[in-house]
Amino acid sequence: MDFYVINNNRFNDSKYAFGESIDQKTGDFEICEVCKSPISMRRWLPPFNVKLSKPSYGDFVFGTFTTFLVSEVFKQKYESADLKGILAFEPIDVVKVKRVKLLSPTPPQFYNVVVTRSKTRIDEVKSMFVRDGDVECDTCRTGGAISSFQGVYLLQETWDRYDIFFPTGLPGTIVISQRFYDFVKENKFTNIDFVPAEQYAAPWAIEK
Ligand SMILES: [Zn+2]
Repeated sequence: MDFYVINNNRFNDSKYAFGESIDQKTGDFEICEVCKSPISMRRWLPPFNVKLSKPSYGDFVFGTFTTFLVSEVFKQKYESADLKGILAFEPIDVVKVKRVKLLSPTPPQFYNVVVTRSKTRIDEVKSMFVRDGDVECDTCRTGGAISSFQGVYLLQETWDRYDIFFPTGLPGTIVISQRFYDFVKENKFTNIDFVPAEQYAAPWAIEK
């Protein structure tokens, strides 16, 4: 199976709006079952109020979210496709769109997606992980912050057959399967960018 990493610039709205959560309330982190370290951002709790940057709406909306928002059309097609990895679709209230005074016509319905934390592991040698310290737990691979890597090489035998997921050890990076990639292409969903996983380098290292 080939994999890709979702690679959108979160705050680029040259074509489609990005989004920001408003008056955000947050709950708990997900924690490692073994060492109890946090392995995610804090969970976003209702109300799911969002401001969009312009009245131009893609099927995907990136921004301040841990994952991203998707359109109603995406949700319906996903639910009838045989894909795994989205745990929930949480309905969003668009409370403001910049440059628009009256929300009429109303913006389309969007959903925040909750993406599974997978046990799929990364070949950290092949991916050339550089850490500022030692890994403290082999289950979640936390400890020793990652300062750079070159490519996301998954250990294929650890893949748990999710089509969209956070791999173990890279808690902010969303990986998709070839099947998910094909699904997006077939349906011509807008405003999502991918890069082959093995070409994806640490974004904080590219800047240098
Ligand atoms: Zn752990």
